Amino acid sequence: MKRFVLFFCLLLLVPLSGCAARVPEDDGRLAVVASNFPAYDFARAVAGEAASVTMLIAPGTEVHSYDPTPQDIRRIRECDLLVFCGGESDAWMEDILASLDRSHTAVLAMMDAVPLLNEETVEGMEAEEDEEGEEYDEHVWTSPANAVRITAAIRDALCAADPENAALYRANAEEYIGQLEALDADFAALAASAARRTVVFADRFPLLYFVREFGLEYCAAFPGCAEETEPGAQTLAFLIRKVREEEIPYVFTIEFSNGRVADMICEAAGCGRLTFHSCHNVTRDEWEAGETYVSLMRRNLENLRTALN
Ligand SMILES: [Zn+2]
Repeated sequence: MKRFVLFFCLLLLVPLSGCAARVPEDDGRLAVVASNFPAYDFARAVAGEAASVTMLIAPGTEVHSYDPTPQDIRRIRECDLLVFCGGESDAWMEDILASLDRSHTAVLAMMDAVPLLNEETVEGMEAEEDEEGEEYDEHVWTSPANAVRITAAIRDALCAADPENAALYRANAEEYIGQLEALDADFAALAASAARRTVVFADRFPLLYFVREFGLEYCAAFPGCAEETEPGAQTLAFLIRKVREEEIPYVFTIEFSNGRVADMICEAAGCGRLTFHSCHNVTRDEWEAGETYVSLMRRNLENLRTALN
């Protein structure tokens, strides 16, 4: 059904693409469209004032149930650089990509900029049904080291698309990569000195790249961004036992979560709960407050410090 709607949207756009119409807000700067928040944040940091960067998926939107509007599709077709994730959540983009004029629009998938990990199911986790074999985990940005790689790839794409401003893009990228590396070092120092090594996510678990980078162990109710939100009795029992046995003081939920699984575990095992922001997207308030990947991850650092000590 979604595909059908998308096909219609593309049909409606055919007359537009023939006359090289520009978006009304076009101000002569390079136009960058980023699909999700991390892509937007890294592109924004490198572009500075030299390019306009638009986030396609609005703040407050659950990225896994996003559908593009005709205006979104038009924005993609008319931009100079498209930055997107490249995983399952971006499946809606396949038809658009296939019909995109690559002589005008450069395309960068964040998943192409980093070494990929397969999604995994660990002990106690609710397994996903009808999963066709292994898939790459798409949450590549959750590791700060990957954020550095993605930012560098965006820098290179911007320099290629807009050589006149290359010096500025390089300087902005260097500055932001410095912030990301400092963040990375702070997480590494915490992981090296913490009393505990295991994080328990009473939720979905989009943080595989993150825990792998810092050598942390994890348990979670669901893998990746599974759609299920009701764990089975076995999963719940496993997590409760784990928290009790290891006297884990806090379990984590991710942003935009209803927190029901955490409520059940906290009540049964007597632990507290904290949020780990996976940076899929920000709320309207966070957007207004100018939150960035770095500011959200700094908050994660403090919550992790509380949970691991
Ligand atoms: Zn996800």
